[in-house]
Amino acid sequence: MPELPEVESFGKYLDRTSLDKTIENVEVKNPELLQNVNADVLKEKLEGHKFKYTKRYGKYTFTALDNNFWLILHYGMTGRLKYFKNQDEAPSYDRLLITFEDGGHLAFDDPRKFGKINMTSSIEDFVKEKKLGSDATEINLKVFKEIFEKRKGAIKSLLMDQHIMAGIGNIYSDEILFQARIHPKVPANKLNSAQIERIFKVMKSVLKTSVDKRIADEELPDSFIIPHRKKNGKCPNSDIKLKTIKVSSRTAYYCPQCQKEIFE
Ligand SMILES: [Zn+2]
Repeated sequence: MPELPEVESFGKYLDRTSLDKTIENVEVKNPELLQNVNADVLKEKLEGHKFKYTKRYGKYTFTALDNNFWLILHYGMTGRLKYFKNQDEAPSYDRLLITFEDGGHLAFDDPRKFGKINMTSSIEDFVKEKKLGSDATEINLKVFKEIFEKRKGAIKSLLMDQHIMAGIGNIYSDEILFQARIHPKVPANKLNSAQIERIFKVMKSVLKTSVDKRIADEELPDSFIIPHRKKNGKCPNSDIKLKTIKVSSRTAYYCPQCQKEIFE
């Protein structure tokens, strides 16, 4: 499922392939992905216009048009972008197909259809309306501490809560807690100041490494838990078998040795 690092790379991909080209045609193949906009309005705002640049906030990309509107994409479980010129390169599950004057196409490909398409004239308003917390790459230590130190919820649930902080999901919260050596179910208010600070620092470094790797289309380091998050996966530190546990109805992977229970 695309989280902050993947979504950042999708934004870069869009910018690399699709800027400053006049949009000739927009085909909404699955209108159920549209949220606050209907197909006619989406077509009207896009056709004849050009994409200028993309910003990311949380798990959303916002692509600026030359008419002061932003196309907003949320990649759900399986969403991604694919630019192509020849029909034989067309993806199989294009829910939105944008055709440029130069014959190129940008497809929003999403097999499972949990993606979402929105438009706005103000990112700020959209973020407010969705009640998104601070973006995980922007948040500073002071705010992070204030947010986390008083809450009773499991640290993993809080890290994944987009209303508290935006961008982290099931996979990267596992990575952060593995590298910070914190059990996913520890209530945040049971963590001491040094532990919260460690989670914060690890989060920043995990995001930095992962964004760079995703943009370069390279694998994550083998020292990460993410490449080992699978059946019979082992801890990269010790060869101990990873365990799974349900947290907020998501399956967390953790190492029973590196991430010992530190609370009663
Ligand atoms: Zn371990």
